[in-house]
Amino acid sequence: MDFTLSDEDELFARTLRDYASSRLLPDMARWRREPYPREFLRELGELGVLGLKVPEEYGGSGATYVAAGVAAEELSRGDFNISYFVQLSTIAAGLLGNASESMKREWLPAMASGDRLLSFALTEPGVGSDAANLVTTARRDGESWVLNGEKASITFAGNADGCVVFARTGGPGARGVSMIFVSLDAPGVARQRYDTVGGHLSQRGSLFFDDVRVPLENQIGEEGTGFVGAMQSFDFNRALIALACVGAARQSLDETVEYAKQRHAFGKPLARHEAVSFQVAEHLALLHAARLVAYETLARADAGQAHTTEAAMAKWLGPKLAADAIHACMLLHGWSGYGNDQPFAQRMLDVMGLEVGDGTPEIMKAIIARETFGREFTAYK
Ligand SMILES: Cc1cc2nc3c(=O)[nH]c(=O)nc-3n(C[C@H](O)[C@H](O)[C@H](O)COP(=O)(O)OP(=O)(O)OC[C@H]3O[C@@H](n4cnc5c(N)ncnc54)[C@H](O)[C@@H]3O)c2cc1C
Repeated sequence: MDFTLSDEDELFARTLRDYASSRLLPDMARWRREPYPREFLRELGELGVLGLKVPEEYGGSGATYVAAGVAAEELSRGDFNISYFVQLSTIAAGLLGNASESMKREWLPAMASGDRLLSFALTEPGVGSDAANLVTTARRDGESWVLNGEKASITFAGNADGCVVFARTGGPGARGVSMIFVSLDAPGVARQRYDTVGGHLSQRGSLFFDDVRVPLENQIGEEGTGFVGAMQSFDFNRALIALACVGAARQSLDETVEYAKQRHAFGKPLARHEAVSFQVAEHLALLHAARLVAYETLARADAGQAHTTEAAMAKWLGPKLAADAIHACMLLHGWSGYGNDQPFAQRMLDVMGLEVGDGTPEIMKAIIARETFGREFTAYK
């Protein structure tokens, strides 16, 4: 067993941590009010975090899943929401790997450079956990797919340029779902942004498709393989989410350690009250465990080994432990921690969003139970 990052990943982590503290952290609160500018997205492209799973011939670096985990963890120290760019570009790179050559040439280099932003649309107003029963349709008409339906709670609904849409092209259930790529400037596409408690930068919202016509070539992979594509994306992205949560929480704990060394109460620094320092120790230990499960998931994905159970464990632990740790950091800062000039409330609300996004705690436990007891014992069969 080797628990160390490669020299290359260590260097990557240091570069991103510097960027996170100097460039992202000071602006974190700004994106509650303003959209994240495209030139900043291009900066992320220059850092190489948007093309990690894009092959070199399409403008990426063809890096490992572990490297994507490093990017999610380190950038989240500056601003948790920046990890959405890492997540969605890593997902899109994997899915577009099965797209036509011309689609790869058109979209992958532009995504890796930050010129174009892609999204993933599975959830609908009526189905989330139960996504195999989605009702958005794509029907063949001559040389086109014609899409109709609403996709709900889509990250980057407000600002994405393109989207992998999961639509029903066949019969009921998972086997009737296919992936169709839609350029979001196509006629018949409409967007609605949500007013959310956190994650403002991600411009989450609904995408509406009203007789949206795209070429047949925009189908990704074989017809009927959409649901499998979505599940395979979740398997690594759940570990990226866990690491993003760990990054935001560890940053909060680092800030709290510094505060507790200089703030005095009852004649000594807070850090010398064990009720304070032990809280920090407990959260560090729990987050360390979540971090290891997440990196194990990604290392297994890199090695081509099964990692569904580990991904579900990481995704259950990461957001939950991070929210608890950040909450403790807020309280350990006393009255000042509750201010909007401090990062804790925003971070806590941001990580809580991904307790739900990409699968709720109940669904993560259902997956772990399914993989442990066997499919014949699942509650939802
Ligand atoms: C921040 C964020 C970002 C997101 N980004 C995207 C995105 O980019 N693309 C996308 O397609 N979707 C996205 N989503 C949607 C997300 O994947 C769904 O919200 C999630 O899968 C849950 O579905 P739901 O909200 O419909 O809840 P439901 O499925 O309606 O569940 C409601 C509650 O019932 C529980 N429940 C449901 N079924 C069971 C069961 N069998 N056993 C026990 N409990 C159960 C759930 O755990 C939950 O607590 C995002 C959501 C959030 C919050």
